[in-house]
Amino acid sequence: MSVRKVLVVGGGITGSVLSLALAQRGVEVDLVEIAPAWSGVGHGITIQGNALKALRSVGVLDRILEHAVTFDLVRMRRADGELIAEIEAAHTGGADLPSTAGALRSDLQNALCEAVYAQGVTVHLGVSVQRLEQSADTTRVTFTDGTTGHYDLVVGADGTNSQMRSMIGIDARPKPVGMSIFRVVAARPPELDCSELYYGGPRYKAGYTPIAADQCYAFPITRFRTAATSALAADALSPAGPLRVGVIGSGFEAQNHVRALAALRELSSVTVFSPNPASRARFTERLADLGLPLGTAESAAAAVEGADLVLCAARSWDEQPTLREAPAGSTVASIGSALPEQRELGVEVLARADLIVADMVDEVAHDTGDLLAAEASGVDCSDKIVSLADVVSGRVAGRSGPDSLVVYKSVGSVVQELAVASMCAWRAGELSLGTTLPVTLSPVAK
Ligand SMILES: Cc1cc2nc3c(=O)[nH]c(=O)nc-3n(C[C@H](O)[C@H](O)[C@H](O)COP(=O)(O)OP(=O)(O)OC[C@H]3O[C@@H](n4cnc5c(N)ncnc54)[C@H](O)[C@@H]3O)c2cc1C
Repeated sequence: MSVRKVLVVGGGITGSVLSLALAQRGVEVDLVEIAPAWSGVGHGITIQGNALKALRSVGVLDRILEHAVTFDLVRMRRADGELIAEIEAAHTGGADLPSTAGALRSDLQNALCEAVYAQGVTVHLGVSVQRLEQSADTTRVTFTDGTTGHYDLVVGADGTNSQMRSMIGIDARPKPVGMSIFRVVAARPPELDCSELYYGGPRYKAGYTPIAADQCYAFPITRFRTAATSALAADALSPAGPLRVGVIGSGFEAQNHVRALAALRELSSVTVFSPNPASRARFTERLADLGLPLGTAESAAAAVEGADLVLCAARSWDEQPTLREAPAGSTVASIGSALPEQRELGVEVLARADLIVADMVDEVAHDTGDLLAAEASGVDCSDKIVSLADVVSGRVAGRSGPDSLVVYKSVGSVVQELAVASMCAWRAGELSLGTTLPVTLSPVAK
C-alpha cells in the first residue's frame, strides 16, 4: 500500500521535521497541534551534529544558523573554574557540519513552523485526536473539534506523555529519576565560546551554552529540594522535642533527608530499614559524621516502632506499600510514591491519618498511587488533605494533638527547587562561602 495521506499529531521538533520531510516527498500531510499558539518556548537548546544533519535535510539549517552559535569544543571545569579538560566534540552529523550549535528554542521552532506552512502542510492548532478507528486500508480519525479524516498513516509525535501511545494500547510512562534541571537565558560573556560544564561533587553539575552573539543559557542541575521541603514539613508537623526517626529506604534521598532533618531538629535516634543489609550498612556509614545514634532494622515495622517521625523514601515500583502501620502520634513523611503506579503507604495508614499535608494538593490527591488506592478502597481523604503552604503560613492548623497521626506526602515542584537554590545562594553570600565563577550571568526576559 502506498502512503499518500499522513496525519502527524504534535508539532514539536519531531512532528515538524517529519511533516516537512513527508511533504517534500509529495505526501499530503495534516498536522494537529494541541497548543492554540504554535511557537517554541524561549530557553536555549544544544543541537548536536546529527540533529543539524536532519535539519539540513529538510532545508531549515541555514535559517536556524542565522542566529545560532556553532562550536566544536566542550570544556569541563571544577566548581572553582579550574579546567579539567577541553575536548573536541565529535562531528556526529559529518565533517562538513559543526559538532554542536547552541540556539534559542523559539528560533528553532519558528524556523520549523514557517517551513511547515511554506511546504503546504495543513496545520490545525488547538486540536487533538479523540478517536482512532483502523480498518484494512485506512484509519478514520475523529478530532477533538468534532471533524473527522481518513489517513494511510497516523504518527504520534506528541512528546513524552503521548496520548497517542495510550490510544494504541502502549501504557509505558516516563519514570522520574530524581534529577531536575533549570535553564535561564542570560547575557553571554565574551569569553564563553563553547559549552562549559562545571562539576561540584559527585552529583551536581552546572553549565553554560552560547546560543546567540549576545546570549547564552545556563543550566544548574540539583537534587536538594525534596529533603529541604520534607524537613520543613516534618518540623512543622512533628511534636516538640527530640525526634526518634524511622527510615524506610537507604538511598540518596533517605540519607539527604536525615541530613536536612538533623539541621532543623534534634534527632534522638535514627533507625533504617532497607531490604538489602549492605545498603543499611552503607546508610549508617555515610551518615556517621552527623554523630547521631544510627541503627538498622530487619523490617519496616521494626524500623518505625516507637518513632515520632517516619520517613518513607523507598521507590516502590511493585505496587506493594512499604508502610502498613504507623505509630499513634507520629508524623509520616512519604516522598517515594509520586506516580499513579507507585505505592508506599498502605490504605490503612491514610484511613487512620487525621490530617494529610501535601506539597502539591491536586497532584497528591489525583496522581499518586497511595491516594488513588485509598479512593478505590472507598477511603475518602478529600476532607483532610491540606497544603503545606497553608500549614506553614498558619492559614490551616497542623497537628491537632499528641496522638494524632499526620501524613505529609510530597510529589515535588519546581518552586521548591527555586526557593532552595535562592536560599543557598543567599546564605553562601552571607557566609562568604563559594566561588565566583569566571562568568557573569544577567538573566534576560524572553
Ligand atoms: C529541560 C530540557 C532541556 C532539553 N535540552 C535539550 C538540548 O539541549 N538538546 C537536545 O537535543 N534535546 C534537549 N532536550 C530534549 C528535547 O527537548 C526533546 O527530545 C524534544 O523536544 C522532543 O521533541 P518532540 O517533538 O518529540 O516532543 P515535544 O517537544 O514534547 O513536542 C510534542 C508536541 O506535541 C504537542 N502535543 C502533546 N500532546 C498532544 C496531543 N494530544 N495532540 C496534539 N498535540 C500534542 C505538544 O504541545 C508539543 O508541541 C531537553 C528536554 C528538556 C525537558
